Amino acid sequence: MPFINGKELLKHAYENGYGVGAFSAHNAETILGILEAAEEEQAPIMIQVGQKVIQTLGMESMKALIDIYAKQFTIPVAIHLDHSRSFDQTMQAVQLGFQSVMFDGSARSFEENSKITRDVVQVARALGIGSEGEIGKIGGTEDDISVDEKDALITTTEEAVAFVEATDVDYLAVSIGTAHGLYKQTPHLRFERLNEISKAIQRPVVLHGGSDVPDEQVQKAIQLGVAKINVDTELRQAFTNGVKDTFKQDPDEIVLANSLGNGKAYLKKKVQEKMKVFGSDGKAKDLL
Ligand SMILES: [Zn+2]
Repeated sequence: MPFINGKELLKHAYENGYGVGAFSAHNAETILGILEAAEEEQAPIMIQVGQKVIQTLGMESMKALIDIYAKQFTIPVAIHLDHSRSFDQTMQAVQLGFQSVMFDGSARSFEENSKITRDVVQVARALGIGSEGEIGKIGGTEDDISVDEKDALITTTEEAVAFVEATDVDYLAVSIGTAHGLYKQTPHLRFERLNEISKAIQRPVVLHGGSDVPDEQVQKAIQLGVAKINVDTELRQAFTNGVKDTFKQDPDEIVLANSLGNGKAYLKKKVQEKMKVFGSDGKAKDLL
């Protein structure tokens, strides 16, 4: 069985100075592309189930699909629930046997966010499941916001410390200059803030909006305590390019295994690139 508790997985990455890629899955081909890349690179991974795919394919079916495929591989895998905004949904994932869950209360008051996150942490921990919380707001690149507004979103060290004290969450997503989606301009991560937060909370930090952040910046963030890097947009882009290229060669192609298969091949290559940047390649053996 390749499944591993998210907390244990990220603890290993955190202590050994590498980052675990948390790759979002959207269908059977994306799941397989991620798993094949991980197997070839011998990299431990997280496969994320996000809100969009829960709405379309459903949480239980995605979990079942990942389970069935993952069992055919040897590398350590943690299935993670991404950006849940409700306690009930995180509990549903816990019941289904996810190895890691995120409750995102960043749109709520500090008190509410802390209280619900604390409840999630307690249940998840009792069952050997890792938990992620978020403090500070990680916006989308599509959000048209000014520089001042951007600054206001950056997580302060004080709130990160207070949140960790109130919740004892296993790993923490903070806002340090990344955004969800594709960047219009090159992002600049706030390393000083990350360093301060990381030293103060003494546990793995999660980087959301990891797509398109320059490799050197991601690697520096890993040195400063980031142990989980979420990648979604860049994978969807790669997959879509693969499908598009198929139709460029033959606009009448109707064998889905060919078009979607090419999407999978492009995505797999991108995932492998990311693993080398994160330094997770070759780390699977340390966890088995
Ligand atoms: Zn995110």
